[in-house]
Amino acid sequence: MIEVYFHNSLTGKKEKFSPADPKRVTVYSCGPTVYNYAHIGNLRAFLFVDFLRRSLKLLGYGVDMTMNITDIDDKIIRDSIAAKKSIQEFTKPWTEAFFEDLKTVHAEILEHYPKATESIPEMIEIIQKLKNKGLVYEKDESLYFSIQKFENYGKLSKIDTSGMKTGTRYDTDEYEKEDVRDFVLWKSPKVEGEASWNTEIGTGRPGWHLECSAMIRKVYQSGVDIHTGGVDLLFPHHENEIAQSEGAFPEETFVGTWLHSEHLLVDGQKMSKSKGNFYTLRDLVQKGIDPKAIRFLLISTHYRSKLNFSTDRLEESANSIRKMQNCLDRLLDAEPNYEIVSDFTFTNPSILTWKKETEESLADDLNIAKVLAVVFESLKIINSLLDSVKNPITSQRRKEFIQLFAYYNQLFDVLEFSAEKDLIDSEIDSLIEERQLARKNKDFARSDAIRDQLLAQGILIEDTKDGLRWRRK
Ligand code: AMP
Ligand code: ZN
Repeated sequence: MIEVYFHNSLTGKKEKFSPADPKRVTVYSCGPTVYNYAHIGNLRAFLFVDFLRRSLKLLGYGVDMTMNITDIDDKIIRDSIAAKKSIQEFTKPWTEAFFEDLKTVHAEILEHYPKATESIPEMIEIIQKLKNKGLVYEKDESLYFSIQKFENYGKLSKIDTSGMKTGTRYDTDEYEKEDVRDFVLWKSPKVEGEASWNTEIGTGRPGWHLECSAMIRKVYQSGVDIHTGGVDLLFPHHENEIAQSEGAFPEETFVGTWLHSEHLLVDGQKMSKSKGNFYTLRDLVQKGIDPKAIRFLLISTHYRSKLNFSTDRLEESANSIRKMQNCLDRLLDAEPNYEIVSDFTFTNPSILTWKKETEESLADDLNIAKVLAVVFESLKIINSLLDSVKNPITSQRRKEFIQLFAYYNQLFDVLEFSAEKDLIDSEIDSLIEERQLARKNKDFARSDAIRDQLLAQGILIEDTKDGLRWRRK
């Protein structure tokens, strides 16, 4: 197996990755707070998880991955009270929307999606352990973590706690690095109607940071090989996770490798709900943008580089997909009955080189730029071989090239291999126009065939007073 290197945020260095069990690499990723639609900045963090998963698998590892659902926090309490709904009622549709979005951008389903509200016993267990070690104190019936009593506080974010005044506290989930204080583990109810649990450590609800420590414990009964999240979570969220988990279980390694994905920017600023400069996936899809182009854009910039979102970049991304698909279609047109084999053995020396270069690039901290350079170089060569009239390529060779695309697609998942491809909006528009024309010309066989083709693709045509409209089922 090839040696893999990751940039570990804990050490700030590229390090050799050596999980205890390569057949089961454990990965935990901070997931969505389900109080709204995810914006595509959030989606970048989630698609990084998908890219990491697919890369590990391509490199020969087995994976066991978790993404949590934060279904209780300050914002959820605020918004559910305003909506006069229970936490469960309020978060259910947003959780469903999150999974729908993942499906739209072809993110693979992970092994576990624990919910914070279903992990309260594990939270209590951690607090009890921290209490026994003298790391917890109570104030106004809430419980706080005393960071000065925990020797390693600051090791991830490299903050210096020496100037900090003891006993100053934060009740809110988020705060700035410049203003480091003790953080809340368990909050006593403050607002009328607030969700709370009656437990042996008191009536209250968890602080956000505690949730992730507890869900890791719940799923793995130990630490994990890799922990991911967006860079904004490094402090205080991940620093506090370390304090809780290593404070409670000092004999164990909590996280082997920390990977932090960079932000998606709009006009140079972080995309965020609070700044109001955000797009949801649905906004973009409604404008007719192909979700594949969004997926490809979000995964094709290295995870540790900022990515400036723009319609030009989306267009570039759609063009890249088109180039790959066109080349693949040339091969498929000549081999219409070929079926992809899942464990194909390549023999062609050029393909073996491209495959090796792809794997070496991924093994170098997921260097996607190098992977793309290999992909587009191979594309150029395959196209020129297909162009050659003098030396037409053999069927065997064409099949091997199709398999090469299937191999690349294990990472990208933006290519279509069957004759029945997903239709994009402009293709649907022109089919509908053609159908109208066929009906006008009383060519009902053709118009019915088009209707059936659209139906098979889940496109419904509706006659409205403003004319024909279509929608996806
Ligand atoms: P949230 O739902 O706010 O808890 O965030 C979910 C994930 O999205 C976290 O990993 C965040 O770090 C990440 N995130 C938030 N904003 C951005 C952004 N503009 N670009 C990339 N990742 C982001
Ligand atoms: Zn988390």
